[in-house]
Amino acid sequence: MSEFFQFVPDDIHAIIGENFSFPANADSIIKAPPASASVVENLPVITIEEKGKECIICLKEFEVGSKGMQMPCKHTYHTECILHWLSKTNSCPLCREELPTDDQFYEEYRKMKKREAQRKEMLKDLHNSMFT
Ligand SMILES: [Zn+2]
Ligand SMILES: [Zn+2]
Repeated sequence: MSEFFQFVPDDIHAIIGENFSFPANADSIIKAPPASASVVENLPVITIEEKGKECIICLKEFEVGSKGMQMPCKHTYHTECILHWLSKTNSCPLCREELPTDDQFYEEYRKMKKREAQRKEMLKDLHNSMFT
């Protein structure tokens, strides 16, 4: 064993051997389902205190003192706007951060996508440790 191999993690064969990968356009084929109703119900409702902020869904300015609903990413929308939005899809209209859904297939797809991203990251790190 040369020193070279000490960088290789034990499970590298599992990583490289797993050659499954999503087509680049998978995201446009697989339609995101609505956000989970139980998650949406529990989104915090906040009072708008800052002047001049607008709801990106309806493009209207928030009235100071009115209520808005806040996504986990801290983006805020009118309650009725975001409820309508999240009944169609599960991601924030501004940053596309996703909320959990009740769709088993889609949740599985998300998990696989995450694993794939992690795998690419690991291979990149490995490549860097070998060739830099
Ligand atoms: Zn709105
Ligand atoms: Zn957001």
